[in-house]
Amino acid sequence: MPEGAPRDAEIIAVGSEMLTPQRLDTNSLFITDQLNALGVEVRRKVIVGDDRANLVEAVQRALRRADLVIVTGGLGPTEDDLTRESVAEALGRELTLRQDLLAAVEERFRRRQRRMAENNKKQAYVVDGAEALPNPHGTAVGQWIREGSKVVMMLPGPPGELKPMFAEQCVPRLASLLPAQSIRMRLYRVTGMTESDLDHLIAPVYTKYSNPVTTILASPGDIQIHLRARCTTESEAERLLAEVGGAIEDLLGDRIFSRNGDSLEAVVGEMLRARGATLAVAESCTGGMLAERITSIPGSSGYFAGGFITYSNEMKQRALGVAAELIERHTAVSEEVARAMAEGARERSGATFAISTTGEAGPESNTGAPVGTVYVGFAGPDGALEAKRFNLPGDRTRVRMFATQGALDYLRRKLLERT
Ligand code: ATP
Ligand code: MG
Repeated sequence: MPEGAPRDAEIIAVGSEMLTPQRLDTNSLFITDQLNALGVEVRRKVIVGDDRANLVEAVQRALRRADLVIVTGGLGPTEDDLTRESVAEALGRELTLRQDLLAAVEERFRRRQRRMAENNKKQAYVVDGAEALPNPHGTAVGQWIREGSKVVMMLPGPPGELKPMFAEQCVPRLASLLPAQSIRMRLYRVTGMTESDLDHLIAPVYTKYSNPVTTILASPGDIQIHLRARCTTESEAERLLAEVGGAIEDLLGDRIFSRNGDSLEAVVGEMLRARGATLAVAESCTGGMLAERITSIPGSSGYFAGGFITYSNEMKQRALGVAAELIERHTAVSEEVARAMAEGARERSGATFAISTTGEAGPESNTGAPVGTVYVGFAGPDGALEAKRFNLPGDRTRVRMFATQGALDYLRRKLLERT
């Protein structure tokens, strides 16, 4: 990258409301996505309340650390909108009233047949040397300020104003400062292991590379690995991704369920469709969550036959034909009952495959099995009938969520065996 091209950004979100439990800063997520696509990394984000001294300090600190400083919010007309004054102070520059901007704000009010309040005048002040960024969706103009090799941007807080301004005004300006480059991404989704086990396994590979940048995002039972390569040519970026991605794929094997971002239910659905197969479910501890996930996929009617929610022992017997004697001998939370549920669901639905869930989601155990014990049953053609035990962590919500993930992944593995 040429000397002086911006590499790092810091985002400052301004607004006391984002220091309350009610409001989150979402603008920075959008900005980060756009910056990453340009090859710029966000190194730090700060949220500052509507306080001038804090804001001045935040801008000065950011300027010491980052090449790009992006300040959002606090460009409104009211007393607590302090971004303009604070950025000017941080840069040691004056604010000047721009008659053309004032005229534009006045015109905006006239068109709406409203009188402009005196305090809206504030919005026509621009830091000396700044370029004004027009705002077709509101009255707060943005500002683009060169400070040596660095840039400070002031953008309005409302997302509906910020997003178009950033995309239409800032991205082209940034692109002209950046060298021509190609950015390529790879994404893996993994299940069946914890984030720390995964990291332990693949860290020796990805920590050797600063390009591609590796990011790991974990949610219960579903870990995403993002690789982003930034090179002067597309083929070089692809080569790097293949090198690092290939090594990661070798280590993770079939624990990777998606290479394009698809959810587990979408992946399983596609596998069923490709085999011309249908699926039924029999759910106890997941209470319909499994069917809900499966049917959230458009087109699932092509392979999903339906399901049985059999919560009581009696329903397991009546709806699925599970033998009372089996439940008595092994309890409802057992491998035997999970298998019998899957078998019953498969027979009674006429589907090619069936999976079942039965377990203790907590907080109390009904059968004596420890909370978190979940069995997933599987029934397929040619008499295939199996079950797998899971010991799932967490509270009731997590156990149930993990159980659906475990069931879908178990099915995925059974289908993989049958290619
Ligand atoms: P306005 O002219 O509307 O006052 P402004 O630039 O002063 O514009 P703010 O007053 O800071 O912006 O915020 C206006 C609205 O935008 C509020 O509803 C606020 O919650 C929302 N907002 C501000 N900053 C963010 C942010 N970082 N992420 C998401 N929403 C934001
Ligand atoms: Mg405001």
